[in-house]
Amino acid sequence: MTPAEARVDLSAIRDNVALLGEHAPGAEIMVVVKADGYGHGMAACGRAALEGGATRLGTAYIREALELRAAGVTAPILSWIIPPGEPLDEAVGQGVELSAGTPALVDEIAAAAGRTGVAARVHLKADTGLARGGAAPADWPALVDRAMARQFEGTIEVAGLWSHFACADIPGHPSVHAQLTAFDDALAIAEKAGAGGSHVIRHIANSAATMLLPQAHYDMVRPGLATYGLSPVPELGGFGLRPAMTLVARIALAKRVPVGSGVSYGHLYVTERETTLGLVPLGYADGILRHATNRAEVLAGGRRRRIAGRVCMDQFVIDVGDDPLAEGDEVILFGDGSRGEPTAQEWADSLGTITHEIVTRIGSRVPRVYR
Ligand SMILES: *Cc1c(COP(=O)(O)O)cnc(C)c1O
Repeated sequence: MTPAEARVDLSAIRDNVALLGEHAPGAEIMVVVKADGYGHGMAACGRAALEGGATRLGTAYIREALELRAAGVTAPILSWIIPPGEPLDEAVGQGVELSAGTPALVDEIAAAAGRTGVAARVHLKADTGLARGGAAPADWPALVDRAMARQFEGTIEVAGLWSHFACADIPGHPSVHAQLTAFDDALAIAEKAGAGGSHVIRHIANSAATMLLPQAHYDMVRPGLATYGLSPVPELGGFGLRPAMTLVARIALAKRVPVGSGVSYGHLYVTERETTLGLVPLGYADGILRHATNRAEVLAGGRRRRIAGRVCMDQFVIDVGDDPLAEGDEVILFGDGSRGEPTAQEWADSLGTITHEIVTRIGSRVPRVYR
């Protein structure tokens, strides 16, 4: 029995991947497991995703991909944030596919491949309008040419052509169409240069585009959030996805206090009558945002309770009035909502953020328990 734990239902992840597959028939699925599987646990969720029909996994950093390899995952993995000094030799040696958006990085990857004796599989990234990673349209032809030269030399193999949306979660946003046009232009240039063919995987769709934009599916979709059962476009509902994580804690202390008791740092909550307070052993060090002070709700004793006063580093307080509450009682912070508890979406809405931030912030002190 731990003070708090994040219960992760791996069958929900398998089901969500299968559902994503129904939305993108004919496309491969790369499930994004960066940031410890969006806080759900990278290796376990990666394996569940592969069981559910994904054929590939995606990570931000090479070290995440190497962690998956160390955990025994043999499926293709793509990593896309590659600052200077990353372990390229190890990545190439372990068959991790790498994104490149500059000729210089193509060269570095080719050099690593030369040292390793294995051709590196590279996905060329086009910046089609996010202005984050990838080659801008003006720089794209030079990137393609460099990659083709290295491919001719035998050090790299162009395995993919890809990009990422800025506003796929905003239905009807004009940038979506503009990015698709820019992506098609980039693909045409690459194909003309010889970086085409059925073995080159074209991909641009995140969760929102997988659900809403069939014209963005190309050869593969790249969902993250939806895999974990969280809606990529909350204003359009839950899409039948099942939230995989339930965050629970056990009451560490329950006690009666008199009317007028100031609760937690700053006394931002004051009891209006004699009441029972419960201490919940999770705080901002565990990802319970301090902004949840007097705001977010939890389920305790079968009813919703608002957090009473400041969220501290390791704990916060709830006020249950005259309801029974005892040490060891389970409190649900969020889950799939089936027991009346809040969902991660409700937490995100009440805190003015997105569910990505709610789940990825759950800290390392909270064990992930799989079901
Ligand atoms: C995080 C990420 C994704 C997944 O995005 P979701 O909105 O969570 O589906 C896909 N592609 C890239 C490049 C990413 O960084």
